[in-house]
Amino acid sequence: MKKLVVGNWKMNGSLGANRQLLESVVAGMPKGELCDAAVCVPSIYLFQIQDLLGKTDLKWGAQDVSAHEQGAYTGEISAAMLRDLGCRFTLVGHSERRLYHGESDQIVAAKAQRALSCGVAPIVCVGESLAEREAGETMTVVKRQLAAVIHAVGHCVSEIVVAYEPVWAIGTGRTASPEQAQEVHAVLRNQLIAACGHSSAVPRILYGGSMNATNATDLLAQPDIDGGLIGGASLKAADFLSILSAASAE
Ligand code: PEP
Repeated sequence: MKKLVVGNWKMNGSLGANRQLLESVVAGMPKGELCDAAVCVPSIYLFQIQDLLGKTDLKWGAQDVSAHEQGAYTGEISAAMLRDLGCRFTLVGHSERRLYHGESDQIVAAKAQRALSCGVAPIVCVGESLAEREAGETMTVVKRQLAAVIHAVGHCVSEIVVAYEPVWAIGTGRTASPEQAQEVHAVLRNQLIAACGHSSAVPRILYGGSMNATNATDLLAQPDIDGGLIGGASLKAADFLSILSAASAE
């Protein structure tokens, strides 16, 4: 299975900076499409990103999507709109959305379902807080978060992407060790195999949380780590390109 590397720009960027960053990334991308790559950008820039990336191998997506189809939901952006702007992916349930916007497992599941119904692959983020890890609850938490989505999307589960992002490792410079990440990925893989019925249809499971040019190779070498979700390091072309090279070498 090809690795998938996705940049999460979060609330960063400008018309000028986006152009500069993407021109460097596209120019330096490893040849031969040995891994899949995408950037999830602030939705306000999707029109620009579609124009910049339309003829390249770099795909793009959003960082969130409405759980509703259309109508009186001021400020929200629908899955159909994302599809209209060429999005292949959207993040759902990023820990910053769960934490700052009170998104429950059920809301995240509804968003995943809505994205799939429009042909946009939801990248479902799951992960435990530091307190939950220290209380020995990591597996219970991530399995519960994923189970809500599996329940909602039914037989379409093979069309999602999963991202394991321990909350304590996001933006902190503190990465899960390859062994810690692998342990959780293996549990998620088994949960997905049970849901899909067979292992060949299991979606990719990305690791996210301070992945960078230095630690990417060791993380991506783990048998159940199928790629990375990259925050801070996706804003620097050289760092993002190093991660793409590491993913292409696997
Ligand atoms: C993220 O926000 O999804 C993320 C993994 O951030 P960072 O790489 O900066 O830890």
